[in-house]
Amino acid sequence: MAITTAIETPPGARRRLRIESPATLELVGEIELSTTDDVRAAVETARKAQPAWAALSFQERGQYMLRALKILLERQDEFIDVILRETPRPRMESIQMDIFAACDSLNYYAVQTARFLRSQKKRLHGVLGFSKTLRIVYRPLGVVGVISPWNGPFILSINPAVQALMAGNTVLIKPSSATPYAGKIIGDLFEAAELPKGILTVLLGDSTTGEALIESGVDKITFTGSVETGCKIAAACAERLIPCTLELGGKDPMIVCADANLDYAAGGAVAGSLMNAGQYCCGTERVYVVDSVADEFIQKVVDRVSKLRQRAEGEFDVGAIITLQQMEIIEKHIADANDKGAKVLIGGRRNPNLKGLYYEPTVLVDVTHDMLVMREETFGPIIPIMRVKDEEEAIQMANDTDYGLAANVWTKNKGKGFEIACRIDSGSVCVNDMTVTYGAPEAPFGGWKNSGIGQLNGETGLRGYCHAQPILIDRFGGKQTANSYPYSSKKEVGFQKFIRFLWGTWIGRRVSMVRLPF
Ligand code: NAD
Repeated sequence: MAITTAIETPPGARRRLRIESPATLELVGEIELSTTDDVRAAVETARKAQPAWAALSFQERGQYMLRALKILLERQDEFIDVILRETPRPRMESIQMDIFAACDSLNYYAVQTARFLRSQKKRLHGVLGFSKTLRIVYRPLGVVGVISPWNGPFILSINPAVQALMAGNTVLIKPSSATPYAGKIIGDLFEAAELPKGILTVLLGDSTTGEALIESGVDKITFTGSVETGCKIAAACAERLIPCTLELGGKDPMIVCADANLDYAAGGAVAGSLMNAGQYCCGTERVYVVDSVADEFIQKVVDRVSKLRQRAEGEFDVGAIITLQQMEIIEKHIADANDKGAKVLIGGRRNPNLKGLYYEPTVLVDVTHDMLVMREETFGPIIPIMRVKDEEEAIQMANDTDYGLAANVWTKNKGKGFEIACRIDSGSVCVNDMTVTYGAPEAPFGGWKNSGIGQLNGETGLRGYCHAQPILIDRFGGKQTANSYPYSSKKEVGFQKFIRFLWGTWIGRRVSMVRLPF
């Protein structure tokens, strides 16, 4: 059984894939994979379309985003239905993760991009400032490739695409082959918004299509996916000297301090670990609770988990595992934990009452750092809880990982929460919340350690789709540089005297930092 299966095609014909629903195992559809020639042609079209797109004002580009926003609002149920066929989860999760987040992204960047990317005048300090002025212009890179994963196929494609577009680039999206339709509807959305041809194109395909996209001469790759693939993407981009941002996997820790509100913390652990059935890049994957409150906290978590509903339709709380490969990883981690002495308090198996790919929400205790479930990304509805002596030990444990995507700390003392957050080596940290930084464009989002390179969202993200080009203008029309030669010993002595004055006297050091007011 597999969710995506290759369909046999005659030699020379286009490759095709059959997509089945992980909830019902019924056919969702069949797709034709883009060939290398398709990818090349799409990149060429995108490149031709880019100068005219870049020539529009931020406001004009923003109008297309706002038109797409209006259509998304009107047709949101239709979009949710498509997304849920491939990624069966509670409808509420798609409303939050896909629709809410995409609406915010379209509106935010339509309105705010001008503020972050308009050209800036900078005053130079010291000697250079007397003779030159500086402007920084944010030039779009050109054609951007967005390669996205199956766990959040809509939002993780549209959000980077909106940022790249607003910065003046044209965009090609390559969604995961396990979730092609959630990517395809982004193309449909912008087509309905009358975005001119070639500005945004969706290329359906698998890893071969992704490789072709990198090879086809794009100017940047924004990749979201696993560490293993991220390394390959980084190498392929390095060979072509093109920049990439890599948003990769995580093993996100949660710390429950002795003074935490245990009801809230238990709720946070359940939501953080079980949202999207745990297939959430910033999902909580390890919980460290201070021993003095551990029994009470664990009981509260188990009570909450025992009330959750897992179904294939109607109202429910925990959805399906999206791919068979992911189900196998979850089962391997739980089997390994069992073998090494962990105790399952609830769950711990595939849901025997459902025919699709469902794993029961699971709480594990007596876990240790030699278990896969505490070291490798599980990406399933699993809450492994480990007791620690105190918060100090919790911080050490939280940092004992190769990953560093996100983390969360629970305490009634916000100041203490902040101090602990500052000591966790992860891309972002939340205090008294599960990880929500991806949804806050003011917060640069990205991984640390093996969880990625570069950051997305907000000012940082937008500027990542540009080359910041400094333009230095001489106030005197180039007179000084024109008189550079001839060099002489007299000039050398004079210049060294000047250096000694500038940084060897207090008044000189002041002069060296002066900025002219114009
Ligand atoms: P994946 O790495 O298998 O695939 C991601 C995408 O890369 C897919 O579109 C795939 O077709 C493409 N691809 C695969 N090999 C390629 C190659 N050699 N060249 C070019 N493209 C290639 O990841 P996945 O299994 O789809 O997604 C799950 C992973 O994504 C998890 O590890 C999760 O933590 C991570 N993720 C990270 C974030 C984040 O923001 N840091 C967000 C969501 C998911």
